[in-house]
Amino acid sequence: MKAVAVIPGRANSVHLADAPVPQVADVPNGRGVLVKVLQIGVDATDREINEALYGNPPPGFEYLIIGHESFGEVVEVGPNVRDLKPGDLVSCTVRRPGGSIYDQIGRNDITSEETYYERGINLLHGYLTELFVDDCEYMVKVPPKLKHLGVLSEPASVCAKAIEQAYLAQQRLQVWQPRRAFVLGAGQIGLLATMMLRLRGLEVFTLARSAAPNLKAKITADYGATYVSTAKTSMTDLAKDVGKPDIIFECTGNSEIAFKAMEVLGLNGALIWTSITGGKKEITIPADLINLHWVLGNKLLVSSVNGNRRHFELGINALAHGELAYPGVTGQILTNPVAGLDQYREMMRLLVEDKEALKVFVNVG
Ligand code: BGC
Ligand code: ZN
Repeated sequence: MKAVAVIPGRANSVHLADAPVPQVADVPNGRGVLVKVLQIGVDATDREINEALYGNPPPGFEYLIIGHESFGEVVEVGPNVRDLKPGDLVSCTVRRPGGSIYDQIGRNDITSEETYYERGINLLHGYLTELFVDDCEYMVKVPPKLKHLGVLSEPASVCAKAIEQAYLAQQRLQVWQPRRAFVLGAGQIGLLATMMLRLRGLEVFTLARSAAPNLKAKITADYGATYVSTAKTSMTDLAKDVGKPDIIFECTGNSEIAFKAMEVLGLNGALIWTSITGGKKEITIPADLINLHWVLGNKLLVSSVNGNRRHFELGINALAHGELAYPGVTGQILTNPVAGLDQYREMMRLLVEDKEALKVFVNVG
């Protein structure tokens, strides 16, 4: 079976591997679900794994099959699978449990162990293949009418979790009613976060470098939010103009902006960090000032990564709600389809070179 793989630790090693065909019986206790891959999304994580910034193969393998944003159709289920049947559409979660107490209660997304197991990223093969199998525990149903957005289930889970984490943490304030949000970054995560914050009734400003008009600005406006080009208006000036935000959702992939955001957050606000920065950048910050304002303003920093089964459900619900509130808007994020696993070089090229690509995904089946 064809699979797109890398040799972790070796830069630009992306290649087509010949992987063993998975079987339902590979999963113990009759809980296996065999899935025919329809579409797999790729993101900066896949690019950085191919740049050898991180990623490890499963034990006993030299290569790692990449791809962690899955969408497919169930073809066969084990005898103890009750709620899935052939023909169902599913996305499969990314992280698998380690040994911590969080892992044991189904919260492997917040494992307290340094070593984490993620399909397509660390120590487990991913989904850029023709077929995959896993325990029914990790398979999340996508309604047939949402088939056109199914490949966004994983990124949606990441956004839905991050926002929910902030709301949960803000229960410390008893009567928190956020009104204004800044979303920093207008890639797939920034746009999905824009939608989810709009669905919660906030006034949303989505900031990115490129000048409007462009597709990011259009999608932002279609969600009823305001696009702000930071080439024209800085985050600081925006806060002066419209007021400081109660929520900042940071997803630029730039650690400098993640820290800069601390200077504009409003009183009692929550800053959500989701960027994963593999580099070694160092910057100078006004530490006294930030410390002073953060303590006097009771501000909160929430970091969030990964999504477990429940976050996938939240993300898929948000995609569905978004389709009703803003019909056809989210589909515009799916900018760059790639025709089949054989086109893996084109897939990587788009990830590396095409700065306008909001979502690169492979049509597999
Ligand atoms: C994935 C997450 C994962 C994280 C860290 C992201 O690209 O979407 O599921 O936890 O990378 O590896
Ligand atoms: Zn990802």
